[in-house]
Amino acid sequence: MACVFCNVAAGTLPANIVYQDEDVVAFRDIQPVAPTHLLVIPRKHIVSVNELADSDAALVGKLFLTAKRLAAESGFAESGFRLVMNTNEDAGQTVFHMHLHVLAGRYLAWPPG
Ligand code: 5GP
Ligand code: ZN
Repeated sequence: MACVFCNVAAGTLPANIVYQDEDVVAFRDIQPVAPTHLLVIPRKHIVSVNELADSDAALVGKLFLTAKRLAAESGFAESGFRLVMNTNEDAGQTVFHMHLHVLAGRYLAWPPG
């Protein structure tokens, strides 16, 4: 299949997976922009937030709860972390399988560039 993150989820493309279950997969970004940079994806192929359906509500919740737990387990609950989901060109989306970035381990400036 053509989608890189579907291939990660299927196990046909190697990735440094830190968590997976029947709904979501979390793995290390191949080009990290922070000391900790994880991606949390649904196994289901959803292109972007634009394509979310009402029936995806629980799945979206699970993405956030997984990110929260991984950030806490990595020790960033107190010091802080950032969750980012880019949508389309102006936000810099490059992989069109929805994914939640978990960024932590350094001060993250605001607003983003
Ligand atoms: P976006 O720019 O779409 O918000 O984020 C895509 C992210 O996926 C980028 O941070 C990029 O480094 C990461 N990425 C792209 N291809 C791969 C890959 O094959 N493996 C992993 N682990 N990360 C990837
Ligand atoms: Zn996909």
